[in-house]
Amino acid sequence: KKLIIGITGGIGSGKTAATNIFQQLGIDVVDADIVARDIVKVGSPVLDLIVKQFGKGIILADGSLNRAMLRQQIFSDNAQKLALNAIMHPAIRAELLAQLDAATSDYVLLSAPLLFENGLEKYVDKVIVVDVDESVQMRRASDRDGVEPSQIEAIINSQLSRHERKNKADFIIDNSGSLLMLNEQVKAAHIWAKNLII
Ligand code: ATP
Repeated sequence: KKLIIGITGGIGSGKTAATNIFQQLGIDVVDADIVARDIVKVGSPVLDLIVKQFGKGIILADGSLNRAMLRQQIFSDNAQKLALNAIMHPAIRAELLAQLDAATSDYVLLSAPLLFENGLEKYVDKVIVVDVDESVQMRRASDRDGVEPSQIEAIINSQLSRHERKNKADFIIDNSGSLLMLNEQVKAAHIWAKNLII
């Protein structure tokens, strides 16, 4: 059976920066954020289900999903939020499992910011947490997204706490240093992961 390792971390912790390095080392990465985006692309069955639930008004002129409107609608209506989750979660899960199954590298990474929050933990054998303190998260994510640090802070507060996340980790990558230091830590994690196989 193939070894599946989850990789998680709060907003701006450096999951993408880390998984890019794993990919350079030849490791397949399944990204829950990318899957969540791709399954609602124009013409997809999941997008049809969303239109049935929210109406044609949720589609933009080019046929794509109006994410801003959808976000607004579920923000103010918990029943609609549950309905959306009931459409999205099984579809995301099925696609994640299909991609994990198709992976051919020595082990495969499942990258998900909300690995624990969304119950994806049960699909992985081990968990790597990419860790930085909240001030670094706020600085890097607000620089990247061009938004106020307070907006990032609100998202941090909606996610699992740093302490809880680290408690669930089998391996912690400390990304408080430079990208060069991240590279070294990913290499160490890669060696750790390969040793789990044999
Ligand atoms: P999200 O959950 O929001 O998608 P993420 O965990 O994938 O975030 P990244 O996008 O990888 O985080 O990193 C956040 C930002 O910080 C990016 O702009 C990235 O280039 C930068 N960054 C990541 N690691 C470092 C580092 N060690 N030094 C400097 N900048 C970094």
